[in-house]
Amino acid sequence: MPQDDYYEILGVTDNSTEEEIKKAYRRLAKKYHPDRNKGDKAAEQKFKQITKANEVLSDKAKRTEYDQFRKMGRSGIGGMGFEQARQYGFRPGAAQGGHFSAEDFGGGLGDLFKEFFDFGKTAKTTRYKAQKGQDVFMRIDVGFETAVRGGKTKIKLPVEEVCGRCKGKGAEPGSKTTKCPTCNGKGVVQSAQGGFAFSRPCPNCYGRGKIIKTPCKQCLGTGTVKRKKTISVNIPRGIESGSKIKIAGMGKPGISGGKPGDFYLRIQVAPHPTFKRKGLDIHSEISVNYIQAILGTKAAVETLAGVIKMSISPGTQPGTKLRLRGRGIVTGKATGDHLVTIKVTLPHKVNERQKKLLHELAKSG
Ligand SMILES: [Zn+2]
Ligand SMILES: [Zn+2]
Repeated sequence: MPQDDYYEILGVTDNSTEEEIKKAYRRLAKKYHPDRNKGDKAAEQKFKQITKANEVLSDKAKRTEYDQFRKMGRSGIGGMGFEQARQYGFRPGAAQGGHFSAEDFGGGLGDLFKEFFDFGKTAKTTRYKAQKGQDVFMRIDVGFETAVRGGKTKIKLPVEEVCGRCKGKGAEPGSKTTKCPTCNGKGVVQSAQGGFAFSRPCPNCYGRGKIIKTPCKQCLGTGTVKRKKTISVNIPRGIESGSKIKIAGMGKPGISGGKPGDFYLRIQVAPHPTFKRKGLDIHSEISVNYIQAILGTKAAVETLAGVIKMSISPGTQPGTKLRLRGRGIVTGKATGDHLVTIKVTLPHKVNERQKKLLHELAKSG
């Protein structure tokens, strides 16, 4: 978290009204007041922070200035805090409509720019900030039954790892490297935009600061290797299409010693030939003929737990839905039902004897 974000310090947002900011400050000031927290260094520090935050945010002009500073992103001026930037003479001009030019700086202009350009040279640790690697997303197909019952499935994950041969350096072990002439070995170059200098990785050496003469044989100089890693993944019971499963640490490698990203599997459940799923309920259809529908019958119904016999009462109408309670998907937290829709079939043809009987039936009805 940025150490000097005044809105975060007060627990408000940049949309908060003056009144809300005042309230938040009063509440926190009471809580961390030195009189109430005698000898508590952390509380004292906190009190100082909230006082400073309130000083800026409760003053309309200062708040506007701070908002503009925030919009630029702190990284844009070499990671400087607001107070520090003000000390150097930072004054964003409203006349520029949010664009900052060199004229926006007061007397401290020279020093400020010196700070920008020295940033890459001196701040070795901040220059190569450890960053978490990117997250990777991949769709996987899961069988209907596996999704219903849960289970383990083996997946080949395309993973990118730091090359073991060159330890990510990209150069063949023991080979010579030369200092990159573009960035003079720093790995970063400065580019100016709207009067501000930005550090970005050197395009000539990809931020390494060195030119590789003999690329590593294994990774061809990229420093990473791609491979397929087979892993076993737990599919939770009752998982639905669109759910995500996180595999921590299997994403892209981190930058400059940062943690690797995570791998996310997006679940796509395969359709079933007879079952349709709605949440935890299973829907299916069975057909009975018109005589069975009129007189009633017992019908075999395929459910998740196997075939069961179901009673169809006399006079069942086409489209009737019968509920088999608790025969749906079981997750451990909840249990769904199985809903059976009754279809009634009519014969395409009847023989002479059937015709005669139906005529008699028609007369009696
Ligand atoms: Zn390598
Ligand atoms: Zn370079």
